[in-house]
Parts: sequence; structure tokens; C-alpha cells
Amino acid sequence: MIIIKSPREIKALRRSAQIVAQICERLKGEIKPGVTTRKLDEIAVGLIKKYNAKPAFLGYKGFPASICTSINKELVHGIPGERKLVSGDIISIDVGIFFEGYCGDMAVTVPVGEVSKGVKKLLQVTKEALYKGIAKAEDSFYLSDISHAIQTFVERNGFSVVRDFVGHGIGREMHEEPQIPNFGPPGKGPRLNVGMVLALEPMVNMGGWQVKVLDDGWTVVTIDGSLSCHFEHMVAITENGPEILTEL
Ligand code: MG
Repeated sequence: MIIIKSPREIKALRRSAQIVAQICERLKGEIKPGVTTRKLDEIAVGLIKKYNAKPAFLGYKGFPASICTSINKELVHGIPGERKLVSGDIISIDVGIFFEGYCGDMAVTVPVGEVSKGVKKLLQVTKEALYKGIAKAEDSFYLSDISHAIQTFVERNGFSVVRDFVGHGIGREMHEEPQIPNFGPPGKGPRLNVGMVLALEPMVNMGGWQVKVLDDGWTVVTIDGSLSCHFEHMVAITENGPEILTEL
């Protein structure tokens, strides 16, 4: 069942969303060659505390850290550790928190130092694909209109969308219904309604779409070793169209 949020609940989700957006913004400023992913996690822990929020990922099905840090061929769910960032890397930072009972969830992918033109294009296309999806988060549209907009834009630009992981509804729980694939034909699935809050998160690979989970049980990587990129926003469907809750 898709939970429709009241204006009061949307206000609460907007607060949680703004907190994760602030944290992502701060973390972006810390991303530079030589920094370990553990350091980024520590900084995130401090910020989450400062906002009187709680990390949503820590302990989620046993996940051992407060944020996910996924580098290069790693798509999502990378575990922070001693790995140091190197110029030319790309890193996705995924932050989830709870504040006053409501979840905030956001991801950005950031270049480290100088990256090639092709890599810049991957980041740009993934981000733009997210906005193509957001534009379809309108009352009375179909859920898969979002999926289709993302897939067609990504593939037109020569990249592929991951099939194994999807976006989701969000509220008091991090993962609510519906699941939101980043692929598929338009005009399918439930109709969208005012009061739905969705976490849209295109995951885009430079090569093939196939991915696998590493032996650590978490880190998802591309099978062909190609780079992978991930952006996520929380979006509320309102009478005036989509509102991006995680936009600062
Ligand atoms: Mg998410």
C-alpha cells in the first residue's frame, strides 16, 4: 500500500530531507584526494548528531556505518573504511537519517580532483536523468512514466540503467511502497497522487547494466568493472507539481 502523506507529514519529511541535503553539501566539501571514506563517515556522524537526527543506515540489516561510500565501479552500499580517495575517482555518498520519526534519504556522486570528459558526462547524464524522472512525478501520471523517462534519457546518451536496485516510497520507513524502477515502458503501475513522497534514484553504468554484490555482503559493483553513478532526491507530489524536498 502506498501511504499518502498529510500536509503535516510532508512538512516533517521536508525537515528530514533538508537535514540530509545539508549533510550531503558539507560532505561534498570534504571530498578530495587523500581523504579516507572512514573520515567521511566520521564527519557525517558528527553532523547527524548536530542536527539531533539518527543515522538510518547504521545497523540497517546489519550495515556497519552511517553512510554509504561507493567508489568508481561500486554502485551502492559501499562500506566506509581505510581506502583513500585518489584524483580521478568518483564517489557516491548516500546519506539516510531519521528526524522526529521521519526519514531523509539522498545520494550524490562527486568527482575527486580532475576527472575525464567522459566521466563528467556520466555524472551529468545521471543527474539530468533524475530531473527527467522528477518532471514525471505529477498527480495522475503513472509510476512507470518516471521509470521510462529515466531509462530513455540514459540510453540515448549511451549509458545503461541498473535493473537490480530501484527507488522507493519514503516516510516513517526508509523503504515504503512503491518500488520505482529506473527502466520500463510508460503508462504502467499505480497512478501517482498528491501526497505521495518518493525517493527517485537513477543508478547508471558507463558499460553494461549488470551488477553483483561483493563478498562483504554489501558493496554492489558493476560486473564489467565500468564506472557507476548514483543520484537521489526525495520528491513530494503536490497540487503544484513535484517538489524536491532534498533541494537546498
Ligand atoms: Mg534511497
